[in-house]
Amino acid sequence: MISFCSTRDPALLASAGEALEVGLASDGGLFIPQSFPTIDVAALPSESFQEMARMWLHAWLKGTEFEKDISSVVDDALNFSVPIYRLDENTAVLELFHGPTLSFKDYGARTMARLLGQRLARTGGNRIILVATSGDTGSAVADGFAGIDGIQVVLLYPSGGVSEIQERQLIVERPNVQALRVKGSFDDCQQLVKGAFADPALVGIPLSTANSINIGRLLPQMLYYVWAVKHLQNNDIEFYVPSGNLGNMTAGVMTHLAGLSVHGLRAAHNANDFYPAFLLDPSTAFGSTIQTLSNAMDVGAPSNFERLQALLNPAKMRQLIQGEVVSDQDTIASMQRVYEQYGYLADPHTAVGLEASRRFRLKSGEERLHVILSTAHPAKFPEVCERALGIKPVEPAQLAALRDASTNVVDIGAQREHLASVLLGL
Ligand SMILES: *Cc1c(COP(=O)(O)O)cnc(C)c1O
Repeated sequence: MISFCSTRDPALLASAGEALEVGLASDGGLFIPQSFPTIDVAALPSESFQEMARMWLHAWLKGTEFEKDISSVVDDALNFSVPIYRLDENTAVLELFHGPTLSFKDYGARTMARLLGQRLARTGGNRIILVATSGDTGSAVADGFAGIDGIQVVLLYPSGGVSEIQERQLIVERPNVQALRVKGSFDDCQQLVKGAFADPALVGIPLSTANSINIGRLLPQMLYYVWAVKHLQNNDIEFYVPSGNLGNMTAGVMTHLAGLSVHGLRAAHNANDFYPAFLLDPSTAFGSTIQTLSNAMDVGAPSNFERLQALLNPAKMRQLIQGEVVSDQDTIASMQRVYEQYGYLADPHTAVGLEASRRFRLKSGEERLHVILSTAHPAKFPEVCERALGIKPVEPAQLAALRDASTNVVDIGAQREHLASVLLGL
């Protein structure tokens, strides 16, 4: 049975259920697998994503309290398609944006929510999930956890700090979800969340978070790497991962350590270039956050970096991973090039990955298969699409349905008493 340990202390162990429920280890470290299953990838089914997913997760969770939950959780959480769009013979886009909130974060949030829900049903516990959000995390978490028994979600976002579409996705009325529009910045929202965990007035309220520091989000994010290798029948793929907090990259590394062979993983970053710079010069320090067009990747100090360092020694990291930095200007140019060359509309995050792929191809001259993880649907970013291409993406049903949906949002100030009174009143 796989246990999890802290990145800071291999002797600090937790079961899968504990790691999922508490999020962070008691020494402030992040949970990583203490050991890895060895999975025979050739033996996995390649016809159905869900069937493959069940077998992969079974290898990870057998013997844990979740073993019997895997089947129903996969059916219920991962009930959308995972298409692979071939741009040309050597380039494929792995579309991870067909879930209800149109970003890859649906995989992690939906699966984690259901696993945690099963655990709470067994223990009779309950949890309040607090999330500060400026991008895709909030809507994925709200949607994923909505209506799960034992869980309430409180979502904080900065007033005026999210796009119209993002706001629509955040404030739609959902069972057990309360959205709070904070008079302040994203940093104020994060401070409020951190403050709530330390607020003596809130002692006894079972708070949790659900961002990508939670190992429960990373487990399902391994699945689409496996799917790409199985489906494309290629054991030598170079994966391009549009990266911010490095959760997706960490999931790719975990997949490889459990037996998936790949040629390499490429971390495609925007101007928030800490990790690519670190790969070239290990003395590089975290930077402050820079705003870009691919805003879900605007992270100056990626929290999953600590996991990558715990999972890979320096030589192995350099052998497996390389980085690339793509400016906003080149992101726009990438969207234009891909649209003109292939008629394919990529969102700005995916465009960062596509540009990194183009550059590595030029540098290496190799014909190796590149798979670009497409992390969001272009319709989430109509302003950037309009600016780059002069067109508005067609609104998918998931967004159109929100236009007439009822909403539920409360305005609060950025002081701790405001959040405390909401939480005490739940
Ligand atoms: C969150 C997000 C990313 C970055 O993923 P990490 O796991 O934080 O590196 C990239 N693209 C989109 C659209 C996202 O929402």
